[in-house]
This record gives sequence, C-alpha cells and structure tokens, in this order.
Amino acid sequence: MQRSGSDSYQAMVLTKPRQALEPMRRATSSPGAGEVLIRVLACGICRTDLHIVDGELARPKLPLVPGHEIIGEAAALGEGAERISVGDRVGVGWLAFTDGECKYCRSDRENLCDNALFTGYTVDGGYAEYAVVCEQYCFPAPAAYEPAEAAPLMCAGLIGYRSLVKTGDARRIGIYGFGAAAHIITQVARHQGREVYAFTRPGDGDGQQFALELGVLWAGDSTMPPPEELDAAIIFAPVGALVPAALGAVRKGGTVVCGGIHMSDIPSFPYELLWGERSVQSVANVTRRDAQEFLAVELQVPVRTTVTKFPLSQANEALAAVREGRLHGAAVLVL
Ligand SMILES: [Zn+2]
Ligand SMILES: [Zn+2]
Repeated sequence: MQRSGSDSYQAMVLTKPRQALEPMRRATSSPGAGEVLIRVLACGICRTDLHIVDGELARPKLPLVPGHEIIGEAAALGEGAERISVGDRVGVGWLAFTDGECKYCRSDRENLCDNALFTGYTVDGGYAEYAVVCEQYCFPAPAAYEPAEAAPLMCAGLIGYRSLVKTGDARRIGIYGFGAAAHIITQVARHQGREVYAFTRPGDGDGQQFALELGVLWAGDSTMPPPEELDAAIIFAPVGALVPAALGAVRKGGTVVCGGIHMSDIPSFPYELLWGERSVQSVANVTRRDAQEFLAVELQVPVRTTVTKFPLSQANEALAAVREGRLHGAAVLVL
C-alpha cells in the first residue's frame, strides 16, 4: 500500500452494506474547531464493525470508513483544541460526540445521549491513514504498549470493563463468547480476585485452551452447565439463545449482562429462568468516565493483549477472520 502524500491518504471504505470494503484515496481535510487530525498507527477490528459491514446495524454513514479502536499520533490541531499537542499519542474509541444537553447527558449517562455520534459508524473511523476526531473524545494512548497491542483496549477493553462493572460484586462470573473483550476483561476480573468461567462455541477446544491460559477457572462449551452456580454472566457472543442459557447458569439475584450492540433474537423461555430476581441487562456504548477508569485499571493489572496484525489493505481478510472466529484475542490493522 502506498504511503499518503500530504494532500491525500489511503482508506478502506464501505460504500454499501454486505459488500467488501474498497481501497480508496481520500482528500486530507484539516481539522475544524475542537478537532484533531490523527495519523493512525493501528486500528483494532471490533465485532461491531462486522455488524455494520454486514448490514445488521441500521443507518451507518455512507460511504464510511469503519474502525473505532484507534491508536494514533496527533498530526494537526483545529482551533481551540488545547488538551493535546501535535505529536502526542492518543487513543480514540466508539464515542465520537455527545451533545451535553439531553436528559441522559445531564444525568451522567452520556453513553445513552440522544444525539451521540459514533466513530466508524456515524462518523468516519480508523481504517485509514488519517482520521479527524473531536479532541474531547481522545484519550492519552495507554502507555507502555505498542500501538497494535493498545488498540483493542479502546473498545473491547472499554465495553468489557463497563460490562464487568454491571456485574457488581459477583465473584463467579461466566463469560459467553471468548473473543477480544473477554480476553481483556478476564485479566481484570482475575486481578480483582474473581473467578471466571469461559463458554465458547461447542467444540472450540483451541478457544477453551486460550481461555485457560489466561487464568479462567473452567472453560467449556456454551451448551454445557458450569461446574458451579454463577453469580453473574456476561454475554459477548451475538447469539440470543445464550440469554436463557446464561439465566439458567446464574444463581438467584444474579445478573446476565449482554455486552454486544447486536444479537440474534432471544428465544422464548420459561419464566422460571428469570424468577428468583434474576435480571437481564444490556450495555449500550460507554462514557468518557468509563474510559478514564478502565485505562487506569488496566495499567494496574497490567492487561496484556493478544493480537493478530493485518496491513490496512487486508481489512476485508481481517474482518473475515473475526467473523469466522479464527483468531485468539483481537485482530488489528497496523499502518
Ligand atoms: Zn446528550
Ligand atoms: Zn467496538
């Protein structure tokens, strides 16, 4: 792939859902007020990117540069962007803008903002040599990581962390779907003294072995009951049938947290599974405070990410690898 000139840059672009991304050269735009032009060093592939590319999420910006796990270097600053200096290494996640005015923003729930914008979904993201982002939604890049290793922290880590927080003080946690988010948050949960039980696709012995290497107490098929009753469960796999399965595995008063943005339909199930004050809850987006908290916590653990690197031009192959569950940990585009 060519390096960009100063007036244009290379990007992988979605022009229509359910089609492959197309390599394109785009004109470099200078950052507007409060914005930062970032030279992208790495961009993780999140399952949400698949849902967008596969047409499972409604109304993406089109044409669209996907990607919301960006690690890059500030290359130019717009007017009034003062928190960041040119040359700083920064991280950018899913949350691209909130209005600060709606009832959700005013009650400390900006993740639910009525007018939120999302990186790589309703604004262009990081499958490109450059990206323009709002300074207020940039974070200092996690220190002591190579860009590729840090990228998955920006969404898989963050959403995983918000999901983990929703389990409260649960000690025994089941995780359904052992991909990028699970492999990060297992390390945080273990650091906090919790027990983790990993559920994978039936027969995924490799995935179960990977989970055991990360310190889970038990790993098995999602169709199996865990050896112990769980205090809570987190579902990262986009499979609605896992909701009744997880409810059947948690104790009375336990919570099942759905960490993904999209799931296949949840089949009907007997009320008995919900009875006993069990609850089901989704996690929608993240707040900037989640990011600040998580980026402090992951340093203490410290979290180590397992990544498979792809060049930008191989974005379609990277998406296919994630879709097919062929990788351990996260897929990351490196530039
Ligand atoms: Zn708002
Ligand atoms: Zn994501």
